[in-house]
Amino acid sequence: MAVRVGVNGFGTIGKRVADAVRKQPDMTLVGVTKTTPSFEARRAVERKIPLYLAGDGPRSEFEAAGVPLAGTLDDLLGSVDVIVDCTPDKVGKENAARYRDAGVRAIFQGGEKPDVAEASFSALANFDTAVGKRSVRVVSCNTTGIARAASVVVGRWGVERWEATLVRRAADPAESKRGPINGILPTLQLPSHHGPDARTIYPDLPIATMAVVVPTTLMHVHTNRLRLARPPASTAEVVAAFRATPRFRLFAPWERVDGTPQVMEFARDHGVAGDDMMENVLWEAGVRLDGADLSFFQAIHQESIVVPENVDAIRALCVPGSRAAESIRTTDQTLGLSRP
Ligand code: NAD
Repeated sequence: MAVRVGVNGFGTIGKRVADAVRKQPDMTLVGVTKTTPSFEARRAVERKIPLYLAGDGPRSEFEAAGVPLAGTLDDLLGSVDVIVDCTPDKVGKENAARYRDAGVRAIFQGGEKPDVAEASFSALANFDTAVGKRSVRVVSCNTTGIARAASVVVGRWGVERWEATLVRRAADPAESKRGPINGILPTLQLPSHHGPDARTIYPDLPIATMAVVVPTTLMHVHTNRLRLARPPASTAEVVAAFRATPRFRLFAPWERVDGTPQVMEFARDHGVAGDDMMENVLWEAGVRLDGADLSFFQAIHQESIVVPENVDAIRALCVPGSRAAESIRTTDQTLGLSRP
């Protein structure tokens, strides 16, 4: 029987997760929530996704806007196996007890602290630890990017030291109240929270992160420098390993992808799951092995990278005996993610 899924919070992440769930052969999207009518509520109606009322807002606003409601959040919780909480940072924590009381499994996002759930999750790295659990937290966009890259390097070559600088987008494209900024803002917390967050997935990862915020809305870019314990023979071997791993997209020099503008243009051209780029993006020319020292850049599309991870998290929690490779394959095929 298909897993019955609800999405609480139909914003940047929630609407993408909802679309992705609808593409899965083993899942049914029961409904999504909104606190107020909006263009996103209209989107749900147009796509015939049942809309439920979240928060304390009045139904009258929906009625006045002609946006039909199928019920309240509690009604939705009464008809799903799992709820994907895509509410703003810290709201998920407030919802956790409600999900528990309703007896539904729950998936939280990276804006919540790790203790909101039984485990932190990133599919390539630790799918198995989530199997059979009742709640997980899909780590943030940047941490997902780091965890995926760690899944390539840690087991193969060992990591003695990893230093990363995260060049972060100031805001998402629709966040007109936040940015873009006119400046470069160092995150004056050292290390930045991303390294410790990556250790919720890889507890022994010797990574130290710093971050700056820059005036762009398109993507984040990470600069990485690693000392490897058992380095491979060549840069080509490193490139081949990234290329052979799901959820990585490498651009060759002849493709003339100078930076994030061309990456997003590529996504628009290819209609990658609705103009999104859910893969870690690397440039072949931006990977270099020098003895035991590995350097590489990667770009992370903050609005969509966690979407396939949420889909896999649903399977890990709700499909008995589910396996990482099989789930990742199904998710990637249905979302149109690239294979080399
Ligand atoms: P968002 O603001 O775009 O969307 C949140 C949605 O939840 C909005 O539609 C809002 O109206 C709705 N909402 C507000 N209060 C609610 C409530 N009490 N109940 C139900 N819905 C409510 O936020 P987002 O960017 O989608 O972020 C959601 C989560 O995903 C956060 O934890 C965030 O840290 C995480 N995340 C965001 C990004 C990103 O770059 N946008 C990337 C990865 C993870």
